[in-house]
Formats: sequence, C-alpha cells, structure tokens
Amino acid sequence: MKQVILWALLAHPEPGVFLTVDTLDPNLSPEEKVCPVDQSRLEREGCWNQPPDILVCQGSPVDRRRLIRALDYWQRLGYTFGTITEASSAQYSCAINVVPRSTIMIDIPSQNFQFGKHLGTTRTWRDTAQYCGTMPLIFKAKIEIIPAWGDTERILEHEIGHALGWNDINSTGHIMNGAWSSGGYTSRGLRNDK
Ligand SMILES: [Zn+2]
Repeated sequence: MKQVILWALLAHPEPGVFLTVDTLDPNLSPEEKVCPVDQSRLEREGCWNQPPDILVCQGSPVDRRRLIRALDYWQRLGYTFGTITEASSAQYSCAINVVPRSTIMIDIPSQNFQFGKHLGTTRTWRDTAQYCGTMPLIFKAKIEIIPAWGDTERILEHEIGHALGWNDINSTGHIMNGAWSSGGYTSRGLRNDK
C-alpha cells in the first residue's frame, strides 16, 4: 500500500519548470530548476565548482545520521561536500528562507510545494554565464522533503542527486528514477569523473 501511494505521489510526468528567481547581478542569468524532468537518458544540467556546504534547517525531516548515509552514497561516486551545519531556530537563512551561496539547504516544504505530487523536491540555482567544464555552474540548491517521509529509503539520495545537477531518468532500479517505486540504488552513469 505504501508503495502504491508513493508511486502515485512520485510519478511526475510533467516537463521541467524553468523559472527566474532572485535579484542578482543583472549580468548573471540565474535559473531555478525544479524537479521533475523525466526522460530515458541520464543528463546533468549543472555542477558545482567547489564542494557544497550542507545546511539542515531546524525541523527538517532529515537527521544527521540519515544525511551522512545519503552523502556517503554520493561520496562513493566521487562527489565531495563541505561543512554540515544543523541550524538552530534562530538561523537566519532558514528563518527567512533564503539559501546561502555555495550551500545545499534542507528544509520542510515551503508554500509552493506541490503536496500530493511530490514527497521531495529540489531547486537548483544556476549561473548560466559561468561554467564548470561544459555545464552551467550551480551556486545553491534547496531540498524540501515532507516531514513524514524524511527517513524513507532513497528519497534524500535522489534529491541530493538533483542538487548535484542530475535529472530524473526513466530507468528501473536507478537512484534518479522519478517514480519512487521504480527506483533503486543503481548509480549507472553518475560517477563524478572530474
Ligand atoms: Zn526527481
């Protein structure tokens, strides 16, 4: 039953949504990219030029143990992360819901979260005027997860994958499969070659 509900919630067929966000230097072209994109070929649409710090807001459904486990998954694939900060209730960035630069912020769903469609969602902010290799530079990301599902297998790993620039893929057993029940821990194609 749980799987059926998850499948219904996580099968997200809509195309990717591109929105302009934040008021930044007008010379930059920041883009906000929102999960999901669902396709048969694995694609990466951005990358970081330095290990992102992790900011876990107070009340986030993800505890440190769960976070470490998810980061381990990606570290084994060659990705590195900066400092992990567990925020107090007074933490400014969490309180005003603004993601600091060079940071992946993890929090509960905000106003725009599509309850009933997703259990988790990730936005990445990309500077399309700057590149790391051939890809636009990601300079911050925000992961939101419904509280009751924070500990569920693979959801956090999947969302961190988006924060690292990967899109959803239609491949059974793959960590980046957008439908939870069709996903798994397969990491084919995700190794960080840099
Ligand atoms: Zn996804």
